[in-house]
Amino acid sequence: MIRKLIGSLLLLCLAAAPASADWFEEFKDNASDDELLRFLTAMPKGGDLHNHITGAVHSEWFWELALNAEKDGYRYYTKTKINNCKFASNEYGGNAYLLLFKTIPEYALNMLPECEQAEYQAVNQLEGELKQQWLDSMRLDQSHEGRAEFFEALWPRVGGMLTNPHLVADLLVMNMQAFGEEGLVYLEVQIPVHGFRDSSGERITPEAVADIYRARLRDDDAQATGVEVRFQLAILRFMPQAEDFLRIVYKFVAEQDLFVGVNMVGREDNDKGYPLRFLPTLRELRQSIGDVSLSIHAGEVDEPNAHVRDTLLLGADRIGHGVNLITDPDTMLLMRHGPYLVEINLISNLLLEYVNDYSQHPFPEYLRTDIPVALSTDDRGMWDSTMSDEFFVAVKEFDVTWRELQKLTRNSIAYAFIEDDLKDRLLEQLDTRMARFERSFRRGGLKSAATVEPQYRGFLCRRYAVCAPEQ
Ligand SMILES: [Zn+2]
Repeated sequence: MIRKLIGSLLLLCLAAAPASADWFEEFKDNASDDELLRFLTAMPKGGDLHNHITGAVHSEWFWELALNAEKDGYRYYTKTKINNCKFASNEYGGNAYLLLFKTIPEYALNMLPECEQAEYQAVNQLEGELKQQWLDSMRLDQSHEGRAEFFEALWPRVGGMLTNPHLVADLLVMNMQAFGEEGLVYLEVQIPVHGFRDSSGERITPEAVADIYRARLRDDDAQATGVEVRFQLAILRFMPQAEDFLRIVYKFVAEQDLFVGVNMVGREDNDKGYPLRFLPTLRELRQSIGDVSLSIHAGEVDEPNAHVRDTLLLGADRIGHGVNLITDPDTMLLMRHGPYLVEINLISNLLLEYVNDYSQHPFPEYLRTDIPVALSTDDRGMWDSTMSDEFFVAVKEFDVTWRELQKLTRNSIAYAFIEDDLKDRLLEQLDTRMARFERSFRRGGLKSAATVEPQYRGFLCRRYAVCAPEQ
């Protein structure tokens, strides 16, 4: 009798096992890394909620964009040698004289002393080794490169190209195309509208820049991607005038179509940008302005602190990175089961040294204690990676299940700053697409993804030896 009971209990257990997930566990056990990437590339996805669009530019896209900008009258020059025109030693940062491959527009070149002008070469004249060095200078592809290189060298190098609104609008569409090919349907990007200039160096107003973006989104090639786009404006939090700029961008977002949220960026290890600094200004703004959502970088720092809690107090619905949330148990409890989401950037956190190894990353703890999370790409051009690569890291390092993959993709729409009817529609479509993908994979295996080619990039090649096949 007892044996019979155990027997039926066993049967019951087997029947209750998540049969729908077994196929994915089996696939993971048997798939090569290349097959896993192929699967994850073909898998439908939701949105990218944490994306600095000006950092989402692969080096060869910058090459194409710089040359293509000549149609709008812009010509770019890059520093290829140092003629010792001025004294400099051990310098670093935005205006560093010694920084090679800093690219600037022609009007800025013309403002330099003659000696310095001779240090620059036209980008469209670069070839061979020099062109390769220019391309390599815009990504973190060396083991000695990390946080300092990213903040103090990469951004100053590309900044001169990013004051051309047509170039930024074009790189936005390139991203829509590439993300669309990976199965994304939504991009919520942090995009600048201030500090832009025309090809002669004349200022362009933020309103005119926004018009250029919106017009570009109406073009056929942008529409054909099927990717919805919304914009956030960000402030550099440690600047002396950051409160004034917060007032400006907050009002701008409230007034302008397609702009939905405000973000705060900049190194959190610079104490001058601490979250609660902005509480009085936000309270003042909320006196008279509504409908502005907040997604704010917080917890992207090495030390334990209460930045995530303080950022929720600022009114943020989403937290960018949240790496050190793990050090604040009260706030973790507060965030379980929502309503706030942590935007997880696995590749960024490793390359910028916020974790030394993935075993230190809190992502699985958040995911598996029901703190809402979604995967995002941060500055994927500089990591030389894709959204599928983020999923690859999640599966490879944390053995993410099929149910968890579904949850991650769903969250990336459910927590988007979009109108309710659009959100409902995208979620419904996502559920249908995921169910269809699962059905056809279980029927035909990877053959069902045969038409999808992974976008092989440098990060996965360097770290996991998943590289583009030799031509
Ligand atoms: Zn970021």
